[in-house]
Amino acid sequence: MATGRLAYMPKPGSVELREYDLPTPRPGALLIETVAAGVCGSDVHMFADKHPLKSIVLGHEVIGRVVDPSTRPTDSAGQELHPGDLVSVVYFAFCQHCRQCQAGRTHLCENSYNHWIASPDDFPHFTGTFGTHYYVGRFQHVFKVPGNVDPLAAVSANCALAQVSAGIDRGGVTAGDTVVIQGAGGLGLWGVAVAKERGAHVVVVDAVQRRLDAAKAFGADETVSFDEAPEAADRIARVRELTDGGADVALELTGVGSAVPEGIEMVRPGATYIEIGNVMPGVEITLDIGSMTRRAVTIHPVIRYHQRFLKAGLEFISRNVGRLPFDKLVDATYPLDDVLQAMEDSKARKVNRAALVMDR
Ligand SMILES: [Zn+2]
Ligand SMILES: [Zn+2]
Repeated sequence: MATGRLAYMPKPGSVELREYDLPTPRPGALLIETVAAGVCGSDVHMFADKHPLKSIVLGHEVIGRVVDPSTRPTDSAGQELHPGDLVSVVYFAFCQHCRQCQAGRTHLCENSYNHWIASPDDFPHFTGTFGTHYYVGRFQHVFKVPGNVDPLAAVSANCALAQVSAGIDRGGVTAGDTVVIQGAGGLGLWGVAVAKERGAHVVVVDAVQRRLDAAKAFGADETVSFDEAPEAADRIARVRELTDGGADVALELTGVGSAVPEGIEMVRPGATYIEIGNVMPGVEITLDIGSMTRRAVTIHPVIRYHQRFLKAGLEFISRNVGRLPFDKLVDATYPLDDVLQAMEDSKARKVNRAALVMDR
């Protein structure tokens, strides 16, 4: 029987490469061969023991190739699947029977991660994307990757790109709006590009100059660095100046709690503040609720996304090939054997965004 290998984290800080028989997909499911798997901030959080999950098959960002589509002949947009087709996968599931799914809030499905947190000793083993193969459950959405898209350009489409697109949509960003993006990491760069395509004027705030340079390359109109504006009050004043008194929409993509009260002061009365970056329970902040109420600022936390944002994201990449520097998104690649190194380098911030690339 054919086997494959996967990277299992038995406890934070350690990774074991394990070998299992390849599972025979059940009806509606699909086995893919991993081409590339992105190392996301939340994988690093798990590895660094800063996440509630303590043991898991690592990885959720993926681009893979269809092996045998007989159990799932089409993607979630109805396109026929063939062996060898490149696909992207919504990494969480919509069970369709919980209270949230029944009410149409499928992104809040109560069983969204059940497939992922299962032990790799149990069928179907390949529940995370750091491995030679990945098992797409029947309640996970899958989309074909357009032919002109490089796998590394799209490896974070199912996480960062789709997530930030859902946030920009929630904020109702439209042509002529001013948008502040706090954080020019993976989420931020996608955020800049998507907001620009919607016709917004985009201001990016970050502490690191080379990240701001990348944001410029993705279309940012203005940047505000911590060097030029070291105090929160300076940054707020600068952003208000650049946005004629405050932005229409702001997105928090830093994962730093203190960015939230700062960002809320960067928007105009009646504006929307989209919270995406802080996803670890236990981050506490102090908010000036009086200022928020007087200015009628709305905070929308956004977690996970409707599958249409992944399909739209893949099409977004496809039509921007040659126009946006997608090769800047991943700055280090590792073979599966070096997964521990990839995690340690990511944790130590020696690399911005790593990806595992499977050789065959
Ligand atoms: Zn991710
Ligand atoms: Zn559900």
